[in-house]
Amino acid sequence: MAKAFFIDTTVCTGCRGCQVACKQWKKLPAEKTTNRGFYQNPEDLSFTTYKLVRMNEVEIEKKLQWLFFPDQCRHCVEPPCLEAAGEPTAIYKDKATGAVLYTKVTKDLDADAIIGSCPYNIPRKGPDGSLAKCDMCIDRVSNGLLPACVETCPTGAMNFGEYKDMRVWAQARLAEVKRKFPKATLVNADTVRVIYLTAFEPTSYWQYAIAEHREVDITRAVAMRQLFKPFTEFFARLG
Ligand code: SF4
Ligand code: SF4
Ligand code: SF4
Repeated sequence: MAKAFFIDTTVCTGCRGCQVACKQWKKLPAEKTTNRGFYQNPEDLSFTTYKLVRMNEVEIEKKLQWLFFPDQCRHCVEPPCLEAAGEPTAIYKDKATGAVLYTKVTKDLDADAIIGSCPYNIPRKGPDGSLAKCDMCIDRVSNGLLPACVETCPTGAMNFGEYKDMRVWAQARLAEVKRKFPKATLVNADTVRVIYLTAFEPTSYWQYAIAEHREVDITRAVAMRQLFKPFTEFFARLG
C-alpha cells in the first residue's frame, strides 16, 4: 500500500531531531558550519544532508513569527525527476510504498537537468556526479519501521502511514488549524506523498515550499516523452 508523510508545521518546534536522526540512520557525515547570525544550519540540503529544518523569522500581520519547515523530498506522485531521468535503473518508484528512489546510475545522467526538473529543488550532486536525496527510509519502512525522522520527532509534527489515512488526517488537522489561522493550507496535497500543513503562505517558510514557485527546466527529451505519453500508454495497453 502506498505510503505518505503528514508534516504538521504548526506543532514543529524547530528542535532539529529529525535532521539529526536522518544523519544518524543514514550514517551521513556532519557538515562544517559557520555562524551566519542565524539558527538554521547547515545552510542548505546537500549530497550528505537529506533533511533540513529551514527556519525563517518574519513579520506577519504585525506579529513576529518564527517559522520552521522540515524540508525533504516530497516523493511526488508523478515525479518530474523520474520523468527527466527517463532511466529506470537510475530513478524509479518503489511499487509498494511509492517512494522515489535514486541509484548510483544517476552519475551517468544529466544531473543538472534532473535537479532543474524538481519543483522543490531537492536533489543534490555528489563528487562522483551521482545524485542523492531522501529515500523515505525505504530499508526501515519495508521492514515495518517508521522513517527515522518520524520515529524521533517529539511533538507529532512528523507523521507517516498509509497514503489514504495521512490525507484524511491532514484534512482534519487543516480544519482545526484554520479556526485560528484562516490562511492555513495543505501544500500541493494531491500531487505529493509528503503533505505539509502550514499556518501561513507556504513561501513565508521557504521559497520552494510550494511547487508553483519554481520555474522548472524541462528538457526537449522530456517534453517529447510527455507529448507522446498518451499514445505510448495506449499502445502498451493494446499489448
Ligand atoms: Fe532522512 Fe529517512 Fe526522513 Fe528521508 S525518511 S528525511 S531519509 S530520515
Ligand atoms: Fe523528485 Fe523533487 Fe519530487 Fe523528490 S520532490 S520526487 S526529487 S521531483
Ligand atoms: Fe520539528 Fe519534529 Fe523535526 Fe523537531 S523533530 S524539528 S519538532 S519536525
